[in-house]
Amino acid sequence: MSLRGFLEQMEAEGEILHIKEKISPRFEIAAMMKAFDDGPILLFENVKGYSAKVVANVCATRKRICRALNISEERLYQKLIEAWRNPTKPKIVKDAPVKEVVREKFSLSEIPILTHFKYDAGPYITSAVISAKSPDKKVENISIHRLQVLGNDKLAIRIVPRHLHRLWLLAKEENKDLDVAISIGLHPAVHLAATAAVPFGISEYYVANTLLGGKFRLVECEHIDAYAPAEAELVLEGKLSISEMIDEGPLVDITGTYDIKRKQPIVKIVGVMHRQDYLYQALLPSGNEHKLLMGLSRETTIWEAVSKVVPKVKAINLSRGGGGWLHAIISIEKQTEGDAKNALLAAFAAHPSLKHAIVVDTDINVYNLEEVEWAIATRFQASEDLIIIPNARGSTLDPSTDQEMGTTTKMGIDATRPLKKPKEKFEKAETSKSRNVEELIEKYMAKCSP
Ligand code: MN
Repeated sequence: MSLRGFLEQMEAEGEILHIKEKISPRFEIAAMMKAFDDGPILLFENVKGYSAKVVANVCATRKRICRALNISEERLYQKLIEAWRNPTKPKIVKDAPVKEVVREKFSLSEIPILTHFKYDAGPYITSAVISAKSPDKKVENISIHRLQVLGNDKLAIRIVPRHLHRLWLLAKEENKDLDVAISIGLHPAVHLAATAAVPFGISEYYVANTLLGGKFRLVECEHIDAYAPAEAELVLEGKLSISEMIDEGPLVDITGTYDIKRKQPIVKIVGVMHRQDYLYQALLPSGNEHKLLMGLSRETTIWEAVSKVVPKVKAINLSRGGGGWLHAIISIEKQTEGDAKNALLAAFAAHPSLKHAIVVDTDINVYNLEEVEWAIATRFQASEDLIIIPNARGSTLDPSTDQEMGTTTKMGIDATRPLKKPKEKFEKAETSKSRNVEELIEKYMAKCSP
């Protein structure tokens, strides 16, 4: 249950593009990642100045994420919810592939860490999964954070006020730095688990173990008190400072805009464990992979919440144009007039960062934005079907959010057809195709395509 195992599977399915030409981790790899944003996995085999290879865009498509979990796309939300509700303890092993090499002397400059965008503050580790325990060792938390390289053994970490932040505050009370395992090069299930919407107190490693059918393995770190995935490619063992703060940022975040500079704590690296020929995993901020990994758990939360207020939710898309975070398109089977408005309210409550939401009928494909626009054009009346909620809590990632108050205006669009009017009036007209004409279409389409 390793990244390598998954890559082998993807290789067999033709999902990996091997880039053999020399390429720089400074801007060049990021530009390639952006160009293949929702395409194949990219394996950079010749990274300028480094011996390690760089793998990128691993979870850049829904299809690949579902392949990693061995499920159909329709089952994805259920599978995630089942794992959130039934976390199981991973086995702890002594011998682990990640311990092929264990070192104290080590420099971050040995790793091909990418610099992504022109005005980013510098190189950033963006795919790392961070685990830490509370001072009393009763709570373990796993989450994803961006890490800015500050020197050979020093990183700045962005910690938003969620679970790791809470552990950090507990460590502050004890006046002791917090041990953090920074794991890089992981099976997609571990990344998905790290973004799970589970309460403080539940270890996301346990969620990963359920997602992987009980086959996830952990190992104790060598220089700090934390667990890391036994099959990780690379683990940086760090001490998260409770006192030393530094300017972190700017860095392009999920919305594709530069997130601001803030005072954030530093992490000092005290040791490292890695495979002999470790792969460095890259993740492009604002890339499709970033949106999917952050967005899928939110889609799942919305799916669960909306399912409680309307009879059937077909699909949800936290769309790419909305940064995979701010816009949701939800298709429902409406039974009573008003269902769509309740669906909108439930969605806003389930995902506090959600800003604009559109509810459509199930004949509309939520991933096809032209169809969604068509539903708004033909089924929506602003005077009746629009909800505006001013001064609601928003996302600080949205530059138009009031940065001081953290407030935004939310807008809900009910683009479902009104039940009281005849259904035929709103039908999406389709041409009827005989087998003959289908064959003709296929033949002439083939001639048209380049
Ligand atoms: Mn957590």
